[in-house]
Amino acid sequence: MTNNYVYVLDGKAYINLTNKCRNACAFCIRNTGDGVAGTPLWLDKEPTATDVMTAFDALAPCADKEVVFCGYGEPTENLDALKACAAQLKARGYTTRLNTNGLGSLAAGRDISGELTDIDTVSVSLNAGSAERYYEITNSAYGLDAFPALVEFAQACKARGITTVFTVVDVIGDDQINKCKTLCAKLDIPLRVRKYVGDNYEG
Ligand code: SF4
Repeated sequence: MTNNYVYVLDGKAYINLTNKCRNACAFCIRNTGDGVAGTPLWLDKEPTATDVMTAFDALAPCADKEVVFCGYGEPTENLDALKACAAQLKARGYTTRLNTNGLGSLAAGRDISGELTDIDTVSVSLNAGSAERYYEITNSAYGLDAFPALVEFAQACKARGITTVFTVVDVIGDDQINKCKTLCAKLDIPLRVRKYVGDNYEG
């Protein structure tokens, strides 16, 4: 199997750090496909930072200046590689974005927001406007604890000066989207409602 740790889509480099995730979202593209835009993203070995940067160097001429950590899974599940790659990319003048389910601190058992010093933007999938609905949608291994944990993670990132946004896909319905808008206004964190596209993965 070819392990595709980096791929370029519309000029942007995406880094595939892991296939692990503690959610099992109903709409996860991993349920129906093998990758994004023709690039297979299932891995038989999680990359080290060296693996990623070697792959990145091969594709860097095609990439613009923002690099996205997404994974075909949850990138904070490979936190050491994430941090090391982000540091190297920042040192080379790239900006970095982390697309995340926001459960990294809960999974690690500590607040990891302070370790994301080389991440410029954190984009957290909110998925729903309440803990109950979040669990229904994501089947999170953390049950009802997941939603407050991801909200807390986003708040911690924002407090540390990381540009922080929430995203939802438009298929969750107007009622949930309105609840998300109310919550995000209260938290003073922007919400991006993005169109659900089958292979446009945001983790
Ligand atoms: S959080 Fe992302 S990777 Fe995990 S199951 Fe949901 S959509 Fe898939």
